[in-house]
Amino acid sequence: MLYINGQWRKAKSGSTLEVYNPATGEVIDSVASGGREETEEAIQAAKEAFKTWKKATGQERGQYLAHVASLMREKKDEIAETITKEMGKPLPHAEREVAGAINYVDWYAEEAKRVYGETIPASHSDKHLMLLRQPVGVAAAITPWNFPASMITRKIAPAIAAGCTVVLKPAPSTPLSAIKVFECFHEAGLPKGVANLVIGPAEDIGNVLTKSPDVRKLTFTGSTQVGKMLLKESADTVKKVSMELGGHAPFIVFEDADLEAAIQGVLGTKFVNSGQTCISTNRIYVAESIAEEFGQKLAEQAAQLKVGNGLEEGVDVGPLINKQAVEKVESHVADAVRQNGKVLCGGKRYDEGKGSFYEPTVINYAHDDMKISTEETFGPVAPIYTFKDEEEVIERANHDSYGLAAYCFTNDLGRGYRMMAELEYGIVGINDPAPIVAQAPFGGIKESGMGKEGGRSGLLEYLEEKFVSVGTGK
Ligand code: ADP
Repeated sequence: MLYINGQWRKAKSGSTLEVYNPATGEVIDSVASGGREETEEAIQAAKEAFKTWKKATGQERGQYLAHVASLMREKKDEIAETITKEMGKPLPHAEREVAGAINYVDWYAEEAKRVYGETIPASHSDKHLMLLRQPVGVAAAITPWNFPASMITRKIAPAIAAGCTVVLKPAPSTPLSAIKVFECFHEAGLPKGVANLVIGPAEDIGNVLTKSPDVRKLTFTGSTQVGKMLLKESADTVKKVSMELGGHAPFIVFEDADLEAAIQGVLGTKFVNSGQTCISTNRIYVAESIAEEFGQKLAEQAAQLKVGNGLEEGVDVGPLINKQAVEKVESHVADAVRQNGKVLCGGKRYDEGKGSFYEPTVINYAHDDMKISTEETFGPVAPIYTFKDEEEVIERANHDSYGLAAYCFTNDLGRGYRMMAELEYGIVGINDPAPIVAQAPFGGIKESGMGKEGGRSGLLEYLEEKFVSVGTGK
């Protein structure tokens, strides 16, 4: 269903789209599929709602969000199950995603009360200078399928806290999680038009959102390719934009690192979500002297991971989102093998009927000319590279175009600080493979994007600064 101006609706054309379970290849549901007309209606509903929503106090906006969070808590099991069914990740991981999604709502429910302005010291005694922070207006949000609930709340919660109204377009493969989250907005009694949901063909909806002069902000998470296109489309109306795009994360292990902690870190950052996250480890750089041992141990543990339908007990690695994703992984592995990479474990499809599975794979002797070294694999493939010294690894770890997340394991404190300074990434985990929390900014540099989500920075993305100078007469 679409959710426009506080109403659950079908598409005017009667169009629907089918939702598949990637673990079984079966259709699990079909939902209304809107187009240009519905998107325009949603924008107008959001524009109308903005007139009053921007005047609500921070406390009121926060209370709505707190109510949304408590409803999400009540429905956490059904939201998690929906995520697993339409996206594939194992149920415990889906539960973790829902907990993360709620954290964003909770955090911004509090932060809604703290949309502070500033006073600025004047240069004349008869003036008062102020900086106001006001909501940007109607925000369009386009989200991906890999975190189909938390990517939504990470955008909508700060937008609502700031006083913006929103039109969301979720990924067509995961509309059911979006509907579940919107049920919470609806049941929380959010005023009509504040949050709208349009499901349907990406190009049509995206085009109306980017071209509309009434949409003042675009927030997007997805591929760099689509992000660049949306940036260009948004230029004509000079929108404020936030872009969370692709990544190619290095994971650096120095000889002084805690090897077991580093291996657990790689297992977490590489195989969780079947490698389908923009902060997934893509290149594992291991100091030459420990590389063989590291590779063997990592492969032993990766081979133990249980692949299967995420609804089954004990499954660690679910399916990839679809067959094309499996084919891309296959082509990257074939290219690595052609260039003398050695498969230590996995390296092939996992045969489970019509599901789109690929085995957790570790490849030794990777080098910089392979496809996996520059392109996002978005699958469970862990290539190991070796390096001689710090200077060399910094040079190689800093990617030409991407700059989202980087990880470094070392027990040398000074080295940790040097790496923190030198790694050209928006997020750096030193001895920490999970550096993502609601209260901290998430976002990349270079072609990995612009703008932040999470924390105070995430709220500022939905606020405009207005400078006011008041002459007091004396
Ligand atoms: P992925 O390759 O991970 O699916 P995409 O960038 O293709 O990443 O998709 C991320 C989001 O962008 C999804 O909601 C998708 O529907 C949307 N999207 C894809 N193409 C377009 C487009 N031309 N205009 C607007 N949104 C788009």
